[in-house]
Amino acid sequence: MDLKAFFKLSYGLYIISSVSGDLDCGCIANTLQQVTAEPPMLSIALHKDNRTTRAILESGKFCGAVLTEEADMNLIGAFGFQTSEKFDKFGGFSSERDENGVRYVTDCVAARYSCEVVDSVDLGTHIMFIGKVTAAETLCSDPVMTYDYYHRVVKGKTPAKAPSYKGEDVKADEPTPAKASAEKWQCAICGYIYEGELPEGYQCPICGVPASKFEKIG
Ligand code: FE
Repeated sequence: MDLKAFFKLSYGLYIISSVSGDLDCGCIANTLQQVTAEPPMLSIALHKDNRTTRAILESGKFCGAVLTEEADMNLIGAFGFQTSEKFDKFGGFSSERDENGVRYVTDCVAARYSCEVVDSVDLGTHIMFIGKVTAAETLCSDPVMTYDYYHRVVKGKTPAKAPSYKGEDVKADEPTPAKASAEKWQCAICGYIYEGELPEGYQCPICGVPASKFEKIG
């Protein structure tokens, strides 16, 4: 099978959030889709190991927030490469709580949809939730982030638990990074870029991996 064929599918980039008791959970996903208009319903497929998935199973509620092109690796890294169990993902960003009690980020977000789960499908590694939209709101008119933009311009990576993860051996055609005077290192796990000589004992501020996981890109 030509795994690169899957790079031809277009996606957006979203923060999917939910609540589990007192714990606000959230993760990055690219698989949010509108599936019906009357009534408006969305589907989302999330990995079973995600804390957010467990929160949705418990609460029956989730919120989908559409990221804009302004979203940087601090935001995407916090929600995409950490676990809600150990890390306060919402801490560094502005957020609101929706009508269902689910917290959602308002920084670099174009719209949000609050949903109640009406059905779910076990897909093996992932669970697909079908959610009826109970509230929707436009937050700004900035251009929204596409998955292609995320890989080409933000130069972000795909977390291993994403439905579209292809492994490190299959990479999209990435343009060579722009030349700069200082050397640049990129985290192989989350895509965070460090400019300058990597200090000894350095850890990625986004996903926490050691300096050995950084690749020199300039
Ligand atoms: Fe990282």
